[in-house]
Amino acid sequence: MTAAPSLLWFRDDLRLADNPALNALAEAGAPIAALYVLDEDSPHIRPLGGAARWWLAQSLRALRTDLSHHGIPLILRQGPATRIVPEVAAALGAATVAFNDRAGEAEGKLDRAITARLAAEDRRVLRFCAHLLHPPGTVLGGSGRMPRTFSSFHRAALRERDLSPPLPAPKRLKGVTRAPDGDTLESFALEPEKPDWAGGLRADWSVGEAAARARLSAFIADGLKGYATGRDRPDLDHVSRLSPHLRFGEISPRQILFAVRHAVDAGEVPSPDAAKFEAELYWRELSYHLLAEEPDIARRNIQPSFDAFPWRECSGELKAWRRGLTGYPLVDAGMRQLWQTGWMHNRVRMVVASFLAKHLLIDWRSGEDWFWDTLVDADAANNAASWQWVAGSGLDAAPYFRIFNPVMQGEKFDPEGTYVRTYVPELKRLPAKLIHHPWTAPQDTLAAAGIRLGHTYPKPLVDHAAARDRALRAFEHLRHAA
Ligand code: FAD
Repeated sequence: MTAAPSLLWFRDDLRLADNPALNALAEAGAPIAALYVLDEDSPHIRPLGGAARWWLAQSLRALRTDLSHHGIPLILRQGPATRIVPEVAAALGAATVAFNDRAGEAEGKLDRAITARLAAEDRRVLRFCAHLLHPPGTVLGGSGRMPRTFSSFHRAALRERDLSPPLPAPKRLKGVTRAPDGDTLESFALEPEKPDWAGGLRADWSVGEAAARARLSAFIADGLKGYATGRDRPDLDHVSRLSPHLRFGEISPRQILFAVRHAVDAGEVPSPDAAKFEAELYWRELSYHLLAEEPDIARRNIQPSFDAFPWRECSGELKAWRRGLTGYPLVDAGMRQLWQTGWMHNRVRMVVASFLAKHLLIDWRSGEDWFWDTLVDADAANNAASWQWVAGSGLDAAPYFRIFNPVMQGEKFDPEGTYVRTYVPELKRLPAKLIHHPWTAPQDTLAAAGIRLGHTYPKPLVDHAAARDRALRAFEHLRHAA
């Protein structure tokens, strides 16, 4: 007699390797069916943004192919997970349902309700933590609470315990011979059609578990050496661009960490570069642990003093920022890279976020919303925590008086203007020494470069020095009000 089937519910863990839920089912040996539920109906679940929806479509295609090599069908369903998961489990006659936990308070509530319902129907439920190095709530400082600064969090996390190595993809997997019907991927309508704005995303990214692994290998071979300083240079290729793969769980942080440590042990990469890179993975951990403690971080200031902040309503300036038409070349290059490719370099993310919240005094939540819709790696933890960090309202945040000068940032981190030339082609014929402040260029230089300021490229939306003073006054006011 064959054992009753098992159901594997995929969520933000679209991979076969280092997937403890899959491993547990593989060890149990029963035939497996896999399920993905596009749940846009349950209350309080934030719907994915446009770029992330595009990524999800590609990732599900890749996962379906990978599973099919093992004879495991991927059932796609759309609707409230509280109804769909028990329904599919019942139709399959599943004795066991396994899944890896995901972040978010609403998601956690939903998972608890579904677990209870499945258990009430006599199905065994197996749950694991697979998207973080340390489960939320397990990194504690001396006070018994989660440390509130990065360095103390990092220290406490490293003290926690030795991490076990990542699990290999199970060798022997058995699929069910008959699976309940599902919806088609096309019916999810995840990809844009008219207009089809995803051309830049298609050109820039390979999606799926195999692509994630290939990107990690290429990064370790070519990018990691020099990461500690090169990571700040958007004109160079020194960051991993693993963030969307991590977002959708095509690769786990544990797989990345162990691969990097292995490369250090083999003498392939210098340990200071690896240490800096590891620290960035711990920034990700910090954001997720924070989200578990403060589920509302995308809406509520972590520092309540910011609730009284006099944000400006200015739809014209917000629109110019979104479109990359602020007149500050580094800001505009970043915003256009985001629109074209669904991703932006971290240094430039900090500069554009600071520009919105400090130069324009526009509420960080408007920026977080735009990033949510346009980033392929938009996630509930990193996006909100990083926006609050830049605005000054966050945990261990950048101090309010740190106002990035977009011209100096450009000169320092894109010294030849290569990055600006790539995304703001109307400036590409300007010499490097003028490219980050075209408004200071002599008329004949502008004319020779084919630029008419205010026509082919905007004049600066605000004057840096005046905007900086205005921001400092607003923040001073906040300090006195607190
Ligand atoms: P690498 O430098 O190669 O780092 C490896 C991994 O470490 C990243 O993939 C990421 O998971 C993590 N990491 C790196 N830097 C940070 C950081 N500062 N904070 C937290 N984790 C980090 N990251 C997201 O994954 N999703 C977001 O929605 C997001 N929104 C952001 C919004 C703003 C305003 C800012 C300033 C940063 C944001 N970040 C976000 C963090 C960071 O910019 C990206 O993780 C990074 O640029 C991704 O590129 P990478 O994979 O090449 O990074």
